[in-house]
Amino acid sequence: MITHPNVALLTRYAGGDPGLDEATVWSVEVHLEACPDCRARLAGSTPDDTRALLDRVAVEMDRSIATGPAPVPVRRFGAAVHRRWFIRALLPWLTMTVAVLGCAFLLEGLWPGLPSLVLLLAPVAPLPGVAVAWSRRVDPAWELIAGTPAAGLTMLLRRTAAVLAVVIPVLAVGSAGTQLSVALLLLPCLACTAATIALGGRLGVRRAAAGVAVVWAAAVVLPSMVTAQLSAVLRPDSVPVWALATAVLVAFTATRNGDYRRLSSLS
Ligand SMILES: [Zn+2]
Repeated sequence: MITHPNVALLTRYAGGDPGLDEATVWSVEVHLEACPDCRARLAGSTPDDTRALLDRVAVEMDRSIATGPAPVPVRRFGAAVHRRWFIRALLPWLTMTVAVLGCAFLLEGLWPGLPSLVLLLAPVAPLPGVAVAWSRRVDPAWELIAGTPAAGLTMLLRRTAAVLAVVIPVLAVGSAGTQLSVALLLLPCLACTAATIALGGRLGVRRAAAGVAVVWAAAVVLPSMVTAQLSAVLRPDSVPVWALATAVLVAFTATRNGDYRRLSSLS
């Protein structure tokens, strides 16, 4: 059975009575949203001074709108593309990534005998960008965007694509003057990125990126540096394994949409 608020209560509500507690105000508002009869009664019980105030506000607003400056047209397309594919906070991270890869290529040319720094760094190169692409700490519009239907895995994949669109050409162009295998540069890079996104839905993207980077450093970079020999996982005969791993991880990542609806992915 629906209980309608009585006239006395509606009158106090309409007059903004400070004696009404929040729970009562809230229940009246919820009821008014669904009950046209009480909305009509509320209109009837509004005190004269409140009506006069509302009229003054309406007249004043009409006047301000009529005499104010014309609204600035919103560049909807540009703004949407910018937010969906890229955030400005990515720029310093991408600059840093390109600079680090540039240094690695330079060292590669200067000391060709050492284990290839480019091969060792390429797999984790996109990870700082991916971590920043889905981080509430660096995106001021985070709350707004996270609440939209387009947020979640789709948006992270778009922004990851923007990161890869910078990292992959750098790797491809940089490797042109070297003996490095393009497949060994790109496949581990894609595999680690996919692993980060797949884990990110459960752990948070930042934590997942850090985890993948630490595992890569401990399992591949460190042994290569200590022994002065490139790890077996980065030798040319491991390309088919990387191709398979990349395909599996990318396919698995595509199924992780549900994870990105959880709060744990939002850190
Ligand atoms: Zn009612």
